[in-house]
Amino acid sequence: MKVISTPLAMRAWTDWVKKKNQSVGFVPTMGALHAGHASLISRAKKENDKVVVSVFVNPAQFGPHEDFSRYPRPFKEDQKLCASLGVDALYHPSPENIYPQGYRSFVNVEGLSDLWCGRFRPGHFRGVATVVLKLLQTVSPDRAYFGEKDYQQLMIIRRMARDLNLPQRIVGCLTLREKDGLAMSSRNQYLSSIERAQAAILYRSLNRAAKKIKSGEAVLRALSSARREILSIPQSKIDYIALIDGESLEEIQTPRPGARIISAIWIGKTRLIDNVELGTVPIS
Ligand code: AMP
Repeated sequence: MKVISTPLAMRAWTDWVKKKNQSVGFVPTMGALHAGHASLISRAKKENDKVVVSVFVNPAQFGPHEDFSRYPRPFKEDQKLCASLGVDALYHPSPENIYPQGYRSFVNVEGLSDLWCGRFRPGHFRGVATVVLKLLQTVSPDRAYFGEKDYQQLMIIRRMARDLNLPQRIVGCLTLREKDGLAMSSRNQYLSSIERAQAAILYRSLNRAAKKIKSGEAVLRALSSARREILSIPQSKIDYIALIDGESLEEIQTPRPGARIISAIWIGKTRLIDNVELGTVPIS
């Protein structure tokens, strides 16, 4: 596995692969890789001749009081995992490689970026869209893989790809979960063991609400119970929980195909996000 740190070397690597008429799949990450990332990498392996993973903790998507400096950076372990999964190139640029002195260009996907997480993390999606566009320009893959776990992010990137005529296919991948249902996330390691046990309530209550809505219960009522269940976790706070249209991300009051319940909550000092699609909720 080749470890690459500059945009120039990254571009040269893809050019070399393309000359051999081989396809490139790309999985952008912030590192601290877990089985959720690994599932994206495995899918990329299946669908492409070569796979590139990037590990870059993007300063532009963190607010001034967020966890940029304490975000986990276990690069050696990430490198080992990527090698064991058969990744062909690991792109690990420095912040200066991505944002050299004098950097002034940012991408804003209007509207979609101001909703939900955007309301609570101003500038977050501007940072995400900018770095993803830069990575796509540099890596120049055929397909890029993103998790549904970050549903708003996936939809913003899809919109950007369409709006800016990017040639890449943006592939959405299912959320990988721990046994108790908690969505895997690099941030789960911030949780104390007690908080970790309580965190499973988030998925369970989203799931329950989805089932209730599917079986005809009023959306407001189903979401109120979910809110109550989540707030039973000590030190918890809800940024939002809502039923949305899966495309426009606008809040809706009645279910429709592709609708999702999305949520962001805090447990102590840790912010967790999750979402479920009404259509894929397991019936028990
Ligand atoms: P991150 O390193 O958190 O920026 O995530 C990198 C990519 O992995 C994003 O496209 C995420 O949506 C995706 N991802 C993160 N957690 C999961 C998960 N539990 N299941 C599937 N994909 C995930």
